[in-house]
Amino acid sequence: MLLRTNVALGANNPVGSQALNPVNSNKILNTYDRASCQVHLNDPPAASYYAASSAAQASAKREALKGELQTDIAVIGGGIAGCSTALHLAKRGYRVALLEARCVGYGASGRSGGQTIFGLAASQKVLAAQVGALDARRLFDLSVEALDLTQSLIREHGIDCDYRPNHVHVATKPRHLDELKQWIDELHGEYGYGSARLLDRAGLQSHVRSDRYLGGILDPRSGHLHPLKYTEGLARAAEAAGARIFENTQALGYQDGREVVVRTAHGSVRCRHLALCGNAYLGPVAPALARRILGVGTYMIATQPLDPTRARELLPSNAAIADINWILDYFRLSADQRILFGGRVSYSALQPPRLADAMRRRMVRIFPQTADLQVQYTWGGFLDISLSRAPDFGRLAANVFYLQGFSGHGMALTALAGKLVAEAVAGTAERFDVFARLPHRDFPGGPLFRRPSLVLAMLYYRLRDIL
Ligand SMILES: Cc1cc2nc3c(=O)[nH]c(=O)nc-3n(C[C@H](O)[C@H](O)[C@H](O)COP(=O)(O)OP(=O)(O)OC[C@H]3O[C@@H](n4cnc5c(N)ncnc54)[C@H](O)[C@@H]3O)c2cc1C
Repeated sequence: MLLRTNVALGANNPVGSQALNPVNSNKILNTYDRASCQVHLNDPPAASYYAASSAAQASAKREALKGELQTDIAVIGGGIAGCSTALHLAKRGYRVALLEARCVGYGASGRSGGQTIFGLAASQKVLAAQVGALDARRLFDLSVEALDLTQSLIREHGIDCDYRPNHVHVATKPRHLDELKQWIDELHGEYGYGSARLLDRAGLQSHVRSDRYLGGILDPRSGHLHPLKYTEGLARAAEAAGARIFENTQALGYQDGREVVVRTAHGSVRCRHLALCGNAYLGPVAPALARRILGVGTYMIATQPLDPTRARELLPSNAAIADINWILDYFRLSADQRILFGGRVSYSALQPPRLADAMRRRMVRIFPQTADLQVQYTWGGFLDISLSRAPDFGRLAANVFYLQGFSGHGMALTALAGKLVAEAVAGTAERFDVFARLPHRDFPGGPLFRRPSLVLAMLYYRLRDIL
């Protein structure tokens, strides 16, 4: 999740994000190289609630690539972005090979808060200042299309991923109420988004029963889902459409040209087009892209299942909730009535201390009546934050596309991004290019100072949350 406009970023930061299973093992899942700002894939798959509750289990079950393969398109990365790219290209009749270093859903897509929300992580004002009012409007409309696409993919491919409608952005401070009011005026007046509506404190009680919140914006068109089941469902749909997916197959690099050659440890793929969908994990495969995003650790817990009546007393409409602080809390119920609670982020190179306890305290601050609940799962993952927090889509060569920089707001947008790559490969790039026109810069400070400068910036935002 994200910062500010939508779901959650958090606090501190990992040398590794931890996935702690019910026995609270201290297994490091990913490591983060401070010098290169790259996340390394040298750890076991996540023992998250999602892995435990999904037939997919977060472990590789498809064959690895061995030998040389000739195909139309190679996709690197088996998250939602990569699986959607593969699906939409295969549906158009292209031969597609998707290479995933670990297993489908291993990255953020299989660990996420699962909240599908309108808009982008950057505010519409920021977007309009960068690309003008018309493109800002197009970007907003595409973000709404992403919500509808997510639901239609679920229906079309019969993906059993516990999708539920309703999302509420909530205010924790009086000044947030003014911000929500301005936001709703902008949504209704400038963007014609009538689905979202303002809730006062009393109206909020139908969605979240906590004294902490003063008001909110309800959007029934947004919602929440089980992200690992959804990602795996997209992967299966892509395979049914003819795509080949290789797991335990890390792309080590590629050579561009009319024919692109992607190297792996035990083989290679020759193709006409390449789509880079490796998110915060891509690193050395495309160093120019890695400099433009920062892998930020963010964390979640899952409680024991609640009695359904008790669960409904906390979240009566089963909506997903996110506050509008810069470093925010986000939560919802799982299909088996656990509270899935996310919140902290890590920007420094420090592992958050006593993570499960810290997360639990944040949850109890919102719902004091949950103080007796056990935390049964704790896990983390990496967000791919761009400097402006706008998504970063584009081309490294005419036939090499990339998707990154979802900045904690990728649950819905990733699927649409994959569809836009497929449109662009097929020759209609207008919609892809609305995103590609967004300007992006490297994080300042070079490899050594990039992360410390972000830590300082985040301290500033944390202070803003407190004041
Ligand atoms: C804890 C957490 C909570 C979140 N909550 C929300 C939320 O509630 N709402 C929301 O909108 N967003 C949320 N996000 C963000 C959202 O999950 C991401 O934006 C989205 O899943 C990104 O999808 P992706 O396909 O781009 O990347 P990923 O899902 O990270 O997939 C990238 C894949 O590429 C693979 N890969 C990388 N390099 C290589 C290589 N060289 N060779 C082969 N494979 C490679 C990786 O193994 C990985 O599986 C959250 C993220 C986290 C971590």
